[in-house]
Amino acid sequence: MSAALVQNLIRPELLALHAYHVPDSAGMIKLDAMENPYHLPQFLRDEIASVVAGCEINRYPDPDPYVLKEKIRQISQLPEGMDVLLGNGSDELIQLLALALNKPGAVLLSVEPSFVMYKMIATFVGMRYVGVPLGEDFSLDIDATLDAIRRERPALVFLAYPNNPTGNLFSSDDIKKIIAASTGLVVIDEAYYAFARDSFIPHLADYPNLLVMRTYSKLGMAGLRLGFLAGSTAWLTQLEKLRLPYNVGVLPQCVAQVLLENHSVLLQQAGQIREDRTVLHQRLSEMAEVYPSEANFLLFRIDNATQVFNALKERGMLIKNLDGGHPMLKNCLRVTVGTSLECQKFIEALQESIA
Ligand code: PMP
Repeated sequence: MSAALVQNLIRPELLALHAYHVPDSAGMIKLDAMENPYHLPQFLRDEIASVVAGCEINRYPDPDPYVLKEKIRQISQLPEGMDVLLGNGSDELIQLLALALNKPGAVLLSVEPSFVMYKMIATFVGMRYVGVPLGEDFSLDIDATLDAIRRERPALVFLAYPNNPTGNLFSSDDIKKIIAASTGLVVIDEAYYAFARDSFIPHLADYPNLLVMRTYSKLGMAGLRLGFLAGSTAWLTQLEKLRLPYNVGVLPQCVAQVLLENHSVLLQQAGQIREDRTVLHQRLSEMAEVYPSEANFLLFRIDNATQVFNALKERGMLIKNLDGGHPMLKNCLRVTVGTSLECQKFIEALQESIA
């Protein structure tokens, strides 16, 4: 009975959509979601415990946490006159941007393969999505991208820098050409900034149609859900109107404040991950075609990828299967750089899985 009613009332494009799949990872070595694998040192856990004990969870959160935002502005070295808007993860910010720019007929443009939420969120809000294929080596096809921008005049362009799931940094000169050619807003998604350390934040003042988005998820706070948009107050003042007033809870605010006061601990962990990425890349290259990565994961192509993925899973190793998701990702798998020990175990499990 209610099934028919649901079919009748829910928007058809939503009925046709598959929910973002999060697999069960209980008991597995989890190398599928680009999380920081390291625990916090005991002194930080103790500090968090005492700060959390004093949090007023009976009250609504501070709708505009000045001290936390100031810390983020300082850490990310925002140029003069720029500000930040906080999101419940950067996923929420993608949605907020799409909602804000979705005038009738507006287009959201990105490249493919890239982060799937750009397309999914375009569908959520009923915005037309255009995906421009990357080149064969996953670099930007700059001519095709500029053609598409002139043809479609997208209101909103997302470019992940470095890109997910391919791991590479696009040419910054190409990105500048895209920003200059766009009449719409271009958002550079720097989710993996901690591992690439190259940013468009210093260029914010050069382009009136540029915003930079970052998340703390990959740096060790995936469970907190905290992302931010950086840009001019002209943009942020308008976007603030769409932000739900209490989108970042009391506990995430308190804990993030402690962690950002101790940012160097997280940066040190990111440094270890970058070192382990080099080792993992080398070991993996002996068994598969591995793509260059400036992020905390590696994309690789291997014969019978889905079979290999399942064999890894049977050995308690969860990575991401991209085979079948996009034609350019045929036989591709993506592994997050875990702890040194997890990387070692992954290599062993892969050796067994392809034997
Ligand atoms: N952008 C990119 C490119 C990502 O890969 C991800 C997470 N996989 C996100 C944004 C979203 O991150 P979060 O919502 O955790 O901030």
